[in-house]
Amino acid sequence: MVLLLWNIAVNTMQMRIGGTETGAMAGKVLDVRNPATGEIIESVPSGTGDDVGSAVGAAGDACGTWGKKTPRERGTILFHAAQRVREQHKDLARLLTMEQGKPLKEALDEVRGFANILEFYAGLSSHSSGEAIRLGAVGDGIVIREPLGVCGAIIPWNMPVLIMGWKIGPALLAGNTMVLKPASTTPLTCLKLAAILDRAGLPPGVLNVITGPGEEVGEAIIRHQAIKKISFTGDTATGEKIRKLGSLNQKELVLELGGSDPMIVMDDADLRTAVEGAIRGRFYNAGQTCTAVKRLYVHEKIADHFTRELKDRVEALTVGNGLGAKVDMGPLNSAGQRERIAVMVESVRSADEGTIVTGGCEMRGKTFENGNFYRPTLVAGVEPESRLVTEEVFGPVLPVMTIPDLATAIREANNTRYGLGASIWTRDIGNVRRFFDEVHAGIVWVNRHLTVPPEVPFGGVNASGIGRENGQDALDGYSRTKTLLLGW
Ligand code: NAD
Repeated sequence: MVLLLWNIAVNTMQMRIGGTETGAMAGKVLDVRNPATGEIIESVPSGTGDDVGSAVGAAGDACGTWGKKTPRERGTILFHAAQRVREQHKDLARLLTMEQGKPLKEALDEVRGFANILEFYAGLSSHSSGEAIRLGAVGDGIVIREPLGVCGAIIPWNMPVLIMGWKIGPALLAGNTMVLKPASTTPLTCLKLAAILDRAGLPPGVLNVITGPGEEVGEAIIRHQAIKKISFTGDTATGEKIRKLGSLNQKELVLELGGSDPMIVMDDADLRTAVEGAIRGRFYNAGQTCTAVKRLYVHEKIADHFTRELKDRVEALTVGNGLGAKVDMGPLNSAGQRERIAVMVESVRSADEGTIVTGGCEMRGKTFENGNFYRPTLVAGVEPESRLVTEEVFGPVLPVMTIPDLATAIREANNTRYGLGASIWTRDIGNVRRFFDEVHAGIVWVNRHLTVPPEVPFGGVNASGIGRENGQDALDGYSRTKTLLLGW
């Protein structure tokens, strides 16, 4: 019988090891709360290092058969899984909204995005095998790609479904097996997706999901000697810790970390499009997106008009439970996250480092009393030394600064330790060329922000991380070459 888990009072959704559901060895559980209501919707096992050991054992056992399948056979299973995800996308999106908080329309986008990723990698299955090179008198070289073995994936709570797709799509197509740890506040949809993949034909042990705290389960994954590669997405501080641990046992590492993306609006930009871009870029997912617009620089000639238009649009956003119709922005994922945002805004207010144009407080009233809601906030004239500029603001607060010219905009954009994404809004191709060449970022958008399609490589520079996800790059990163040299 298939249970509709979100209709059940409090249930325990099990981890998945070796294709079967299992509780934690220690028997402890973690409660998963709906961030809009504070209610416990489900609990999951609080896994341990021993559970990680079992999962790595199951993943190791599965390596032989999975790695020996042809890329086409593996791609076909990913494709079938994507079809099943599409069939169930409404239920999956609802579950995602209930654990993460985002509006249902965004959750639907994310679930469809997961299916897109699996389909994209399934489509690469006939291009992923290797090459032959003629070497004249030396002979012929045949280069094949072989999987790395057991890989580890650790994912955050802000986009749990999409990021799970970014990791499993290329890793599994390349013939690896995986042990994956979701964030403690958003494990449910990931577990559901793993069950769907198993039912679509993934052999037991190819994908194992262990729930539990980062310090215990996450670190056990990083320390495990049999894991060859780790792909981690999360905070820069956690990434630093992982970089040190991972390099001790010579693991390959992909670290997708924090960002403080600048958005530059030049005086020749289409203002209506740019205002909409800033609204979506900042307030999508309540501002909890790695590539959100975190610093907005507007040309001084248009700044007053632009800020007025922006204020009207911010105040028109409907905030509420993500399951509600016409909700534009849900709660933050946790009370701690809301507290961090409130403290940052208070620091600006008390040091007089900017003018709060709108928002700047929690949402009040009966609808909001048990949820983690924060009012969409615009802060103008923010000083460069303010925490809203120097740190990653992972919530619905947009600092706006003015710039006199492009050179200043680029200097300010690069005045950060991060380097994930950046956008410029202009009709001048010369501005575009210069910005693209000089800004420190892994992805640069022109007249848009935020979008990360599976076809293009994605990742940051500096404190935003190392390595790339998506595209052919990610697939290549989950295999190593082995060369046969035929001397005739
Ligand atoms: P986080 O670092 O707190 O947690 C991420 C994951 O790591 C969770 O599963 C957590 O349980 C686990 N973890 C925590 N401590 C660990 C440890 N010591 N060892 C191993 N695992 C550990 O990050 P978060 O708050 O969940 O996510 C938000 C951050 O993620 C933001 O900084 C955001 O910008 C970043 N992010 C980056 C990207 C990207 O692609 N660059 C995408 C999404 C989010």
